[in-house]
Amino acid sequence: MNIDNLTLPQLVGELKQAAGQCPKCEGTRETTFTSRGRDNVVNCLECEPLYQALQHLEAALKLLQDI
Ligand SMILES: [Zn+2]
Repeated sequence: MNIDNLTLPQLVGELKQAAGQCPKCEGTRETTFTSRGRDNVVNCLECEPLYQALQHLEAALKLLQDI
């Protein structure tokens, strides 16, 4: 993939797509609801880095949108 010309929204889209096509959990990673709230996330080592990157990029997008 040539990432040189990707915009930030495109990058987020690509990461989401990649996470949804995870070969291990097939994008079925879900948030489990516990008595402590919804912070207990089922981790998949294959796609967890994608979701972590998405968190930061989506935060960046939101910051830029608010300017
Ligand atoms: Zn996965």
